[in-house]
Amino acid sequence: MKNISFNIDGRICSATKGENLIEAAKQNGIFIPTLCHFKHLNPLGSCRVCIVNLNGHAIAGCSVFVEEGMQIEVNTPELLDTRKAILEMMFVEGNHFCPSCEKSGDCQMQNLAYETGIRYTRFPHLFVDRIVDARPERIVVNQNRCIKCKRCFEEVETNDGYKVFNFSNKGNKTIVSIDYEQEAKLSETQAEYAMKICPTGSILVKGKTFSKPFGDRIFDQVSEGKAIAFDKINKKGRKMRIATTSLAGCFGCHMSLLDIDLGILDVIELVEFNKSPLTDIKKFTQHCDIGLVEGGCCNTDNIEVLRTFRENCDVLISVGECAIWGGVPAIRNTIPVEDCLREAYLESLTSEENETVIPYHEDIPKILNKVYPNHEIVKIDYHIPGCPPNANHIWNVVKNILFEEEFSVVYPEFKYD
Ligand code: SF4
Ligand code: SF4
Repeated sequence: MKNISFNIDGRICSATKGENLIEAAKQNGIFIPTLCHFKHLNPLGSCRVCIVNLNGHAIAGCSVFVEEGMQIEVNTPELLDTRKAILEMMFVEGNHFCPSCEKSGDCQMQNLAYETGIRYTRFPHLFVDRIVDARPERIVVNQNRCIKCKRCFEEVETNDGYKVFNFSNKGNKTIVSIDYEQEAKLSETQAEYAMKICPTGSILVKGKTFSKPFGDRIFDQVSEGKAIAFDKINKKGRKMRIATTSLAGCFGCHMSLLDIDLGILDVIELVEFNKSPLTDIKKFTQHCDIGLVEGGCCNTDNIEVLRTFRENCDVLISVGECAIWGGVPAIRNTIPVEDCLREAYLESLTSEENETVIPYHEDIPKILNKVYPNHEIVKIDYHIPGCPPNANHIWNVVKNILFEEEFSVVYPEFKYD
């Protein structure tokens, strides 16, 4: 029975005294984001994504039990930014290569990144190298994706009531430890439950994939894609000049650029391409209004090209995950560069037998110690996330910059799978 009233962001809410704030807010139509909270686990309080102000003090919302007259703030600009920063820290503290992750589209952490509008992280990625533990009987635990939310500790147990997961080590070295003996007693259904309740792709069941293909998963929403109407004359009164390049990327973003099909005919009425793989113009012949850069920097040539783009473009945009933080090529950042070269040239399946020479020549661009995001090399004006971002999204950003319009991003347009 609802017997108290309290206030969230100026709205009067009602609930039963002592109810968990996350649940009480939900009943009043207010969403407080969280990754660790479960209705019956009261409170876990480990992820801190649900940060709120209670009577003026910041606190994890899931650890609050509502009382008469409480004054709660959930969505102040400071709280929204703090929540976003907490999520960004989770992303950089582990390895989250969404485009190659089995859970992409079904992942709560990824979904919150969409919801909070994370386009790039303000913190450097750590590129940790933690174990991907395939020793258990039924499951695989990828420690690089674990956010230490404790859900698996609390929720997963055998029929005899024994826990399967715990923490080992401390501080930054904390990992989820697995009791292999107990894990082997889990039924298929219990193992699948562990995979389901993990808010990231850290727990996977061997031989099982997620039931739906990418695009149809829980957090995938169909984006119709808005028509791109380049129907105005820009302030410069001439065709705008665009340059594009692909650094350490797969050309997927360029493929996506062309995905507007016949819309490209409208685009070329108003813009002209200068240096770009689309025109095969190798060097800038004129200063450009916009530079679109796909891919990050993995070698000295990438850095040189990126600097040339910065010098020759008024507005420089990183397009796609590889440009924004390294993306899939940055998987190598978890491995010493010498090991990467040895694997690529001497020990791969296609290496010549007894090969001992790693190619070296002054004309070959030097490989960098790691793959760098573009904003660590030059100033980047905008980031367009996605892997690849969809074509409508890219061209809408370009259009809005060219015509100096307000632009807001619809979150289903961020796609990493
Ligand atoms: S989809 Fe996978 S890689 Fe991406 S945030 Fe979730 S767990 Fe991390
Ligand atoms: S393995 Fe998953 S459920 Fe367990 S603590 Fe890590 S993120 Fe949470």
